[in-house]
Amino acid sequence: MNVTLPEIDRLKLAETDKTKSVTILGSTGSIGCNTLDLVSRDREKFTLKALTANKNVAKLAEQAIEFDAELAVIADDRLLGALKEALSGSDVRAAAGESGLNEAANMDADWVMSSIVGAAGLKPTLTAVRRGATIALANKECLVCAGGFMMEQVKDYGATILPVDSEHNAIFQIFDFEHPETIDKITLTASGGPFWNTNVAKLADITPQQAVNHPNWSMGAKISVDSATMMNKGLELIEAYYLFPVGKEQLDILIHPQSIIHSMVSYVDGSVLAQLGTPDMRTPISYALGWPDRMETPCKKLDLAEIGNLSFVKPDDEHFPSLKITREVLQNGGSAPTILNASNEVAVYAFLEGKIGFLDIAKIVEKTLTKLSFHKVTSLDDVHEVDEHARHAALELVTGMSK
Ligand code: NAD
Ligand code: MG
Repeated sequence: MNVTLPEIDRLKLAETDKTKSVTILGSTGSIGCNTLDLVSRDREKFTLKALTANKNVAKLAEQAIEFDAELAVIADDRLLGALKEALSGSDVRAAAGESGLNEAANMDADWVMSSIVGAAGLKPTLTAVRRGATIALANKECLVCAGGFMMEQVKDYGATILPVDSEHNAIFQIFDFEHPETIDKITLTASGGPFWNTNVAKLADITPQQAVNHPNWSMGAKISVDSATMMNKGLELIEAYYLFPVGKEQLDILIHPQSIIHSMVSYVDGSVLAQLGTPDMRTPISYALGWPDRMETPCKKLDLAEIGNLSFVKPDDEHFPSLKITREVLQNGGSAPTILNASNEVAVYAFLEGKIGFLDIAKIVEKTLTKLSFHKVTSLDDVHEVDEHARHAALELVTGMSK
């Protein structure tokens, strides 16, 4: 168990009550834009320190000028000239590459949104952790690939992590951090993706087009396939283990096709607390942005009478082998989750490119895990090395399996 309890220093917050300075790592993505949407609704309350993006110069410059940011960083350093040009005439400073991302993460913002996608988010998030920042964490990979190491660093440097993934944000809202011994279990809810009630015999023939067609959420192709295999929920199980002080056996998963209950915490007395809301990421983001206070959002208010029924189904391993695999990975710990994440990524892209079948995704992940030995992960260099080996091993399996 690794956890840093969020300590609320209200006096300290009162001093900075007027404004909160904000940095967004990954401001041009879906989470980044939703964060800026919330900031735009209360401009008196927030000032912008740094915004970062990978390649989208036009959007980054537009955001930086509109929100009067101090620094705009483009990760692809070949685009620094274009960024400077796009910012000309404004007071926004431009930077690029790894050093630029590092500078953004190191600025003294009161609040940092970590919303870069993938392993690229690890380094800048660690930089923010090491200056003891308050970090709204959307990037899953920080905890899936390097959970133990990351949470140790959070503790050592006195950083605060506010979970943004909707399930973890829900648990964060209802978890009694002062009395974790009174918690019986955590239940992560899952939409189940498009195939939770499809006959198992038909899963082998699922096409990429069918898999990316998610019933409730409009998301990128990778995460949509992860929802269809339920690997996304497996990754979230690992994320939850590192965020909350409970045992591995106290984490449960339940399919809830309407995506209204975002997760639940069961207490020893039989009480079950849940967080509900319409599926809109601005609710969990706002909880982190306003924390420890709540803020108003434009999200559609929940009308349970209109919805009528909420239903639940227990997921089975035959349908979703990825759940069994992630439970084993969680038991093994160390480099196992890093291997899981890397091999899954390779397998999902191979599936999307039509090279392997839907059921081959879990097979490749399972085989990669058996091929490589596990060890402790104690630095980001370790993580990158394991990640590289696992990708290589998974790619070999893809080649051997290619249709
Ligand atoms: P996105 O792809 O829409 O945006 C990603 C952001 O990261 C962009 O600003 C992009 O420019 C930047 N980026 C991409 N590659 C980069 C690189 N190599 N170096 C530097 N910057 C890079 O992703 P998103 O949907 O906003 O998700 C962000 C993170 O939040 C992911 O880890 C995702 O799993 C997690 N998350 C997202 C949602 C959601 O609803 N979108 C929900 C829960 C968790
Ligand atoms: Mg989620």
